[in-house]
Amino acid sequence: MKTVCLFDIDGTLLSAGGAGQHAMEQALEEVFGVQGPYHDIPAAGRTDWAITRDLFAFHDLEVTDHQWQRFLEAYLRLLPISMTTKNGQVLPGVNELLNELSRRDDVALGLLTGNLEVGARLKLRHFDIDHHFHFGGYGDSHLDRDDVARLAHRAAGEHLTTEIHADRLWVIGDTPADVKCGRAIGAKVLAVATGIHSISELEPSRPDDLRESLADVDSVLRTLIG
Ligand SMILES: [Mg+2]
Repeated sequence: MKTVCLFDIDGTLLSAGGAGQHAMEQALEEVFGVQGPYHDIPAAGRTDWAITRDLFAFHDLEVTDHQWQRFLEAYLRLLPISMTTKNGQVLPGVNELLNELSRRDDVALGLLTGNLEVGARLKLRHFDIDHHFHFGGYGDSHLDRDDVARLAHRAAGEHLTTEIHADRLWVIGDTPADVKCGRAIGAKVLAVATGIHSISELEPSRPDDLRESLADVDSVLRTLIG
């Protein structure tokens, strides 16, 4: 029986140093000639579709297919450049943890992220950790992270030939929204305080495991696969 681990990206696997936000703002400026400030539009735990809808609304821009495609083209072109200029990093323990999980044939690794699928791959490829993930749910077309969790769950089911058991299904994330969406698919949740939320802010959402970081890889492995 396989253990399925669904990883969030920003604040969990890596810190992009604000590269995603920066590329979105640059894309808005380049395509529509508009500028922020955008500090009232929250990003953590939300989908890119939800964030960009808010950004468009902020500027009274219509979300037509054409406008969206123009924005998307610019954002995905600017994101890799933004990744190289911002001071992002893979978070503590992540490389070792992914290597350990990847070499086990009783573990399947997927993504559960609010990022657009192509954006997610670009961020992971920047740090050479994209090869660990073979399926996922992404934030291309849903406002609610719970729907993204359902996509990821379904993608895991299609990727695996065996049944997924709820007690061997884990969501690993850094926001209360990650804990909530894990519950929506009956998963266990490991929450980590390496994003914008502290331990005390994550506690009320009652994750199954809560820790400062993923740095203690042996302990994380014991939690996830026993
Ligand atoms: Mg996150």
